[in-house]
Amino acid sequence: MKIYISGKYFERSEARVSVFDHGFLYGDGIFEGMRSYSGKVFRLSDHIERLWESAKGIALEIPFSEVEMERAVNDTLLLNGISDGYIRLIVTRGEGTLGLDHHLCREPQVIIIADKLALYPNELYENGLEIVTASTIRVNPSMLSPQVKSLNYLNNILAKIEAYKAGCAEVLMLNSRGEVAECSGDNIFIYKRGELRTPPPEAGILEGITRRVVLEIAVKTGLRVKETPMTRHDVFTADECFLTGSAAELIPVVKLDNRIIGKGKPGEITKKLLKLFQEETRK
Ligand code: PMP
Repeated sequence: MKIYISGKYFERSEARVSVFDHGFLYGDGIFEGMRSYSGKVFRLSDHIERLWESAKGIALEIPFSEVEMERAVNDTLLLNGISDGYIRLIVTRGEGTLGLDHHLCREPQVIIIADKLALYPNELYENGLEIVTASTIRVNPSMLSPQVKSLNYLNNILAKIEAYKAGCAEVLMLNSRGEVAECSGDNIFIYKRGELRTPPPEAGILEGITRRVVLEIAVKTGLRVKETPMTRHDVFTADECFLTGSAAELIPVVKLDNRIIGKGKPGEITKKLLKLFQEETRK
C-alpha cells in the first residue's frame, strides 16, 4: 500500500505524521471518506467541495487547489491498483507546538489512503440491521457544526461504544431537542405513509453525500420526499427504515431499541432505492 502524504508516496510502514501535528494532538483537522467503483471515485467533486467547506469552518487553508486535490486522490487510487475501494482523505492543521496556537502550525498535511472496503456483512443487507438509541447526544450545532467533518469523532465514537455494548453495529443519535439526528457514521431515513422522510440539516446532522444522492433518486422516481424533524416515535411506527453512507450505501434497519420496525424485514422501497443507488454508482 502506498500512502500519499503532502506530495510524496510512502509505504504503509513508513507513512508518518509528527506527534506535534495538531491533527494528532487536538483532532484539529478534517477528512472525507469516499468510495470508488471500477476505479472511479463516486461523487468526487462533491466530497472535495465538502472538504473545502469543512476547511473554511475551521479556518484552515488547504495548500492545494481543488483540481490538484482531485488529481492527488485519483493518482493514489491508480497507484494502489484499487478498483472498488474506500479512500480516506485527511487534512491536518500540521506540525505545531504543544500549545493551541494554530499560527504556529507550519503547513497543513494532506494524507490520502486508498484501501479495500470494510463493509457490513452481507447478512445485514439481507436481514436488516438492529440499532439502539445512544444516551450520547449528537453535538449541538451551536457548539461545533456537524457539517465540519473534523478529525475529532469522539462524540460519534462514544455513541458507537454504546452500540457495541448493546450488540449492535450502529446506533441512533438524538439531538439536544430529543429529535432524531443521525447514526454514528450514517444518515437515517424512514418511509411512512407513502413518504420518504429524513431529518433536515437543522437537526444537527452531517449532510451526507449518499443522503443527497438518495434524495435525488427518490424525487426522480416520483416518491414524495420530506426533510423534516422526527422523533423516535416516527421511527418505531415507520413502515421502513434505512441508513445511508459512502461505505454502507443503503442498509436496511429492522429494529430500534428492540422494537420491530414495519414487518421486521428490509422493505420494498428500501430495496428499490438501494438498487437504483447501485445503478447510479456504476454509471
Ligand atoms: N453522518 C456522519 C456522522 C458521518 O460520519 C457520515 C460519513 N461516514 C455520514 C453521516 C454519511 O455521509 P456520506 O454519505 O457523505 O458518507
